[in-house]
Amino acid sequence: MTVEHSLPPVLDLRPVAHRAEPVKGQTPVGRFVRLSEGLPELSGDLLVTWRAHAEWRAPLAGEPALWLHVQAHGAVPQICQRCLHPFAAEVAVDRWFRFVADEATAAQEDDESEEDVLVLEPRFDLQALIEDELLMALPLVPMHEVCPTPVKTTAGVLEEAAPDDKPHPFAALAALKKGHPG
Ligand SMILES: [Zn+2]
Repeated sequence: MTVEHSLPPVLDLRPVAHRAEPVKGQTPVGRFVRLSEGLPELSGDLLVTWRAHAEWRAPLAGEPALWLHVQAHGAVPQICQRCLHPFAAEVAVDRWFRFVADEATAAQEDDESEEDVLVLEPRFDLQALIEDELLMALPLVPMHEVCPTPVKTTAGVLEEAAPDDKPHPFAALAALKKGHPG
């Protein structure tokens, strides 16, 4: 199934919650201007796949509240801090938001709640929210799991990027178990 590239829309969440249908799409990373600022160039079309689902929930007491579940994942170009080469880092977001009427309530309830509390606005900028979340989900120290090229250390010695002589943790465990049967 192919999904057309689209930007997360600015929308009124109330009718969206009423329809109970998720809003979803795929957006090239470059369309998130703040996210892609200063990022290295990578070949290929890097995409963020996102999905937002709004629903009304009625608490035991009080007014029904609007909740929003936002999920996004994609590959964002980063510079590996070990080998200094650009690579596509996997980034994922999965978060719930609850909406309240005004800033004062949001500030007060955000501290007490597990979910994030936001102010319900008639024109809600889903793209800005997804971009904020992606920015927060970026790795603090981006690094390849295994660098594709040997790393040059400060001493000028070439170190193998993926050493094969490293003892395997499970091998060590197996050896340990062998010594202590039962
Ligand atoms: Zn690397």
